[in-house]
Amino acid sequence: MYKNFEEQFTGMMKFTPPLYKQRYQFVKDLVEKYKPKKVADLGCADCTLLWMLKFCSCIEVLAGLDSCANVMKEKMHRLSPLPVDYLQPAERSLTVTLLHGSVAHKDPCMLGFDLVTCIELIEHLEESELKKFPEVVFGFMAPSIVVISTPNSEFNPLLPGVALFRDPDHKFEWNRVQFRSWALETARRYGYSVEFTGVGHPPTGMENVGFCTQIGVFVRKYPQTSEFTPSEKPAEAVYKTVFKAVYPSLKDEKYLQNAVVGEVIFTAQIIKQSLLDRLMPEHKEHNDDPLERKSKFRPPVKCFSEDLERLLAEKSTEPFVNGDVVYIPLATIFSLPKVNQLCGTLEKLRQLIAGKVLLSSDGSAVMFSIERENEEN
Ligand code: SAH
Repeated sequence: MYKNFEEQFTGMMKFTPPLYKQRYQFVKDLVEKYKPKKVADLGCADCTLLWMLKFCSCIEVLAGLDSCANVMKEKMHRLSPLPVDYLQPAERSLTVTLLHGSVAHKDPCMLGFDLVTCIELIEHLEESELKKFPEVVFGFMAPSIVVISTPNSEFNPLLPGVALFRDPDHKFEWNRVQFRSWALETARRYGYSVEFTGVGHPPTGMENVGFCTQIGVFVRKYPQTSEFTPSEKPAEAVYKTVFKAVYPSLKDEKYLQNAVVGEVIFTAQIIKQSLLDRLMPEHKEHNDDPLERKSKFRPPVKCFSEDLERLLAEKSTEPFVNGDVVYIPLATIFSLPKVNQLCGTLEKLRQLIAGKVLLSSDGSAVMFSIERENEEN
């Protein structure tokens, strides 16, 4: 892998953090700044950058593309959801896809991205691929931002052991003028502006060689009016999906329902317990002995509602006990910040818990049986 070769040569330069990490951090900082929702990493290799990016909470779609399926598969398991992702589904949705294919070919699955990263990719491209690359990335994919990094050959004399190129698979390595002229011409042709920077500072006194890795950040000048130019034939799918992970998210009704039902049962239990403790102090005293609690549990009559219909109709937000049932108005549960945030409206709360939690006949309160609970205990 490229980063291992590079470490071998740049090791003596003592880049801290290592150069590849500085490049990934550069991309992360860009993500924090522009907050893209859809990010594609072209030439993603072992998916390390993708793995880092999956923790950026603004990203909802992550795609990796590489012409070598095996290198992508090496560590792709790191992109799968973890048990904690299922236990506590995130607010955002996240889909991670790995695609096998070449940046020299267009595939419609690459449309609609906000940020496209090409980290140490272009120098691996054959001449014919490099020729097609701008049209695929800037013309066809046309994301808002493209970041391209590549070695700065002017730095090579400072890297011990580098005779021609830093990696045997490199087809070329450009100096700053070569990269600038290619980048400026590409930007001009496809309506982008480009700014140059880099990572890996040269040693003191050698500043004239520039950064070890040169970087161009391209920003599209005009908003995209259509996804393709109308005359262009939509490309056919040519990439092969080698991995796809859809993360559990509260945007998915199934996970939202689980979270809301869990939250409702949890808060209702607390409300019920505090209500019972308040109404029946003797119940609290014996609650370490379920059998005793059951026999002793007889709430004072005055606490009972004689007229349940009337109480519910009053839309009281106070929980109350009727017979062996505790009624907790939905409005009370809805007023709790977590439930409120998850559901948004009272109607949504009712809809999400319907069939999962016992509701009063008019649907205005959650019902918990005291008897049944004690039996379960
Ligand atoms: N971006 C990674 C890997 C750089 S090495 C990093 O920063 O570490 C370049 C990667 O580009 C390799 O994994 C190689 O398989 C891939 N690659 C080479 N030619 C390609 C092409 N035409 N299309 C897509 N990926 C290509």
